[in-house]
Amino acid sequence: MRRQRTGSVVCRSCGRLVGVNDAECYECGSKNPGLWGYTPLVRILGDDLGFLRLVMVGCIFLYIATLIVGSSETGRGGMFSLLSPSQTGLFLFGASGAVPVFRYDRWWTLLSAGWLHGGLLHIGFNLMWVRQLAPVTAEIYGAGRMVLIYTVATVTGFGLSTLTGMYLPFLPGPLKGAMFSVGASAPIFGLLGALVYSGRRGIGSHVSQQARGYAIILGIFGFIFPAVDNWAHAGGFLGGYLLARWLDPMQPERLNHLVAAAVCIVLTVLSIVVSVVHGYRFL
Ligand SMILES: [Zn+2]
Repeated sequence: MRRQRTGSVVCRSCGRLVGVNDAECYECGSKNPGLWGYTPLVRILGDDLGFLRLVMVGCIFLYIATLIVGSSETGRGGMFSLLSPSQTGLFLFGASGAVPVFRYDRWWTLLSAGWLHGGLLHIGFNLMWVRQLAPVTAEIYGAGRMVLIYTVATVTGFGLSTLTGMYLPFLPGPLKGAMFSVGASAPIFGLLGALVYSGRRGIGSHVSQQARGYAIILGIFGFIFPAVDNWAHAGGFLGGYLLARWLDPMQPERLNHLVAAAVCIVLTVLSIVVSVVHGYRFL
């Protein structure tokens, strides 16, 4: 994992050979294409820079932590409540929705809620989808922009469901906004949105077609099964789609995207830490 100081490396943006100390790629104009000699480290982390592993480990760790705080006594929600953390545990670690955001002013939970899960099937199902979608999204957009899309879609997803829960409380059944919500399906729909958009630009059209199919099936699924936060799905999809449009998959990934991704990860960790520190006194 030593830093490379001489010779040439592959530009992270366009894949051409560049000097490891070059300030700018002569081919695509990307700044610091050699990543200051740290490309070997980046290669070890994989094409997604270790983000998929972070999501898996982070979600499982938080699931266990919320279960330790307390598991659900009731068992409402049928098979989806199998091994469910209690509402207290989920609230403590940063569940979102109209109650935490508006009654307790916990606005940062729009980010933390995407890393929490309400049951064994919930987390299993969601991690399976992240595993399926994160690598292909990283392949098309680059790891940094994939993390950006994931993070922003989490916020837009829970933002939409929280606002709907607050201001349109009269909506019926599956159209209800969230009083209380968790799960990685908001960012999963964000990845789907970004993949659907890439197809509109003529990139990965097969993957994109598949993503459209998945989004429709998962969308319908949300109306059949009880207690699914459909507004988080819609907000996540919209956030992913619009951000992908702004980032433009035709453009190569730049260094500032990687910096922004690192900021996203720091903010995510902070959102969970602040949730626990702030939420502790309400227990
Ligand atoms: Zn380049």
